[in-house]
Amino acid sequence: METRNHAPRQDRGILFVVSAPSGAGKTSLLNTLLEGDPDLSLSVSYTTRSPRAGEKDGEHYHFVDKAQFEAMVAEDAFVEYARVFDNAYGTAEAALREVLETGRDLLLEIDWQGARQVRARFPDAVSVFIVPPSVVELERRLRGRGQDSDDVIAARMNCARDELSHYGEYDYLIVNDVFEEALSDLRSVVAAERLRQPRQAARRRDALEAMLAGDRD
Ligand code: 5GP
Repeated sequence: METRNHAPRQDRGILFVVSAPSGAGKTSLLNTLLEGDPDLSLSVSYTTRSPRAGEKDGEHYHFVDKAQFEAMVAEDAFVEYARVFDNAYGTAEAALREVLETGRDLLLEIDWQGARQVRARFPDAVSVFIVPPSVVELERRLRGRGQDSDDVIAARMNCARDELSHYGEYDYLIVNDVFEEALSDLRSVVAAERLRQPRQAARRRDALEAMLAGDRD
């Protein structure tokens, strides 16, 4: 098992961390990315918040009560956890390691607090921040169907600004103005990370060694 002092193993899956203020369009982008990429899976977080309409336990989140969440914190079961709004959210370490150990890439859709903890524990994690193109567009998206009061919108704008203020901590910044372009940018990040020399060399070691030895195959 890897310890924190060892160099990251290059045959392990890549850990992608994606954050965004609400209104950036992160969920649609990530769903489309995941649908077209069988080598990438999404980590299912634990949360104390109640399921929204259409959300399934074990698929969108593992929905737990506060006592269950606290028990997992006490057992050190989370690689990261954070309080967002009035709820707690966390990523279980066992599930994360299981995916990465098999060489599959894993995507964590978490907030900036969680991203910070993941970076500290997995320095080779790749972090991506998604932003809306402008304040006008952000407000338009946060207004949704226009049924919320100005106070509610102002509170959402403040939360979005708080998340946005952390963009500088991420490796990549993607602007989601035109959906298809943002999706293509996101796919480019995933593709480029998979092509990094140490990872490619680990994957292609046999062929590289055979070529260097002059073997014909
Ligand atoms: P929602 O309740 O709308 O699904 O998510 C609210 C916020 O919690 C989003 O910013 C989302 O990225 C974040 N979040 C979801 N799961 C986790 C997690 O496991 N850890 C952390 N730190 N944040 C999470």
